[in-house]
Amino acid sequence: MGTTGTVLAQEANFYRVRLDDGLGMVLCTRRARLKKTGQSVLVGDRVEVTEIDSASGRGVIAATCARRSVLSKPPIANCTGVLVVFALSEPAYDPALLSRFLVHIEAEKLGAIVCLNKIDEVPPEAVEAVAVAVGGWGYTVRPVSARTGVGIEALRAELAGTYVLAGPSGVGKSSLLNYLHPGLALRVGDISARLGRGRHTTRHVELFALNAEALVADAPGFNQLELTLAPERLAGYFPEFRPYLGCCQFRNCLHRDEPGCAVREANLERYGIYREFLAEVLVNAQKQRRTAEPDEAIRLRGGLRRGKAVAVPRLEEQLRGTSRRTARQQLGRWDETAADEAD
Ligand code: GDP
Ligand code: ZN
Repeated sequence: MGTTGTVLAQEANFYRVRLDDGLGMVLCTRRARLKKTGQSVLVGDRVEVTEIDSASGRGVIAATCARRSVLSKPPIANCTGVLVVFALSEPAYDPALLSRFLVHIEAEKLGAIVCLNKIDEVPPEAVEAVAVAVGGWGYTVRPVSARTGVGIEALRAELAGTYVLAGPSGVGKSSLLNYLHPGLALRVGDISARLGRGRHTTRHVELFALNAEALVADAPGFNQLELTLAPERLAGYFPEFRPYLGCCQFRNCLHRDEPGCAVREANLERYGIYREFLAEVLVNAQKQRRTAEPDEAIRLRGGLRRGKAVAVPRLEEQLRGTSRRTARQQLGRWDETAADEAD
């Protein structure tokens, strides 16, 4: 009988596995039978290791355990959530950019911990204001300084499971990882360099152990920030909007200028950001439709159809200056049951 462990990295045909119960690291190959059955081994996988040779630090992966989840970009099994790092200064705090990361994370159905870094650079009131705002959106917030070490232990205590590190470049991701994992000696700027250019390391994923329970991947993946979502899904990716969803006059309300929109009337802090994102999502959905159905787009443009459908080729035009009337016309575009008003 072997023992269980977690795959931290893959290098060529070898897997670096951390054995449970503090039994150390082993470099493993995978048993030929696993290869034959097409069973892949991913970073983050829980595996059963046999033929452990402690002298050489070698072993063999005999089986993989069922996965709780699989993230495709970056490829990681059993990911618990995303550790989103943002700075309060240099680069300046940008709630719209933070929201963009958070929407992607929501769309992946992952949890997020928001780590506000460089708190040594701004007054405590500024830290507090951002922490309260982001907390109000429904996220766990950890203000830290990777320079002074303030807040790092509280952050470490918060982490249990496997996380992906995300955030814009320059916010302090490498500095923070160095602090959380002192043996690492990652050069500051390393992660950004990797995120910035699609080097040969793009597919390389590695998990770092922060404590007995927590692992963090410094992998690229959450840097593809274009919003290509179904427009009607977007509002649900803003957790603080959720109590109002389903309370609008129109069942398929996109929460723009529709009458009786409960979301708009709630005066939520991120409503403006939502509108910005929605415009982008609609344009992208429109582009996708064009590529998927070029014939139909041409036919519609030719005016062969009347009524609601005519709104399709004019969508981008409408997005530039949305009037109430055109907004109502568009309602019909995303859900054919648009006429179906709630009472
Ligand atoms: P990354 O691109 O997200 O990996 O960011 P780095 O870790 O490379 O940090 C970018 C710059 O911010 C470096 O000059 C760091 O020294 C600096 N930095 C990182 N954390 C802090 C912090 O908590 N406070 C201050 N003042 N500077 C920081
Ligand atoms: Zn609404």
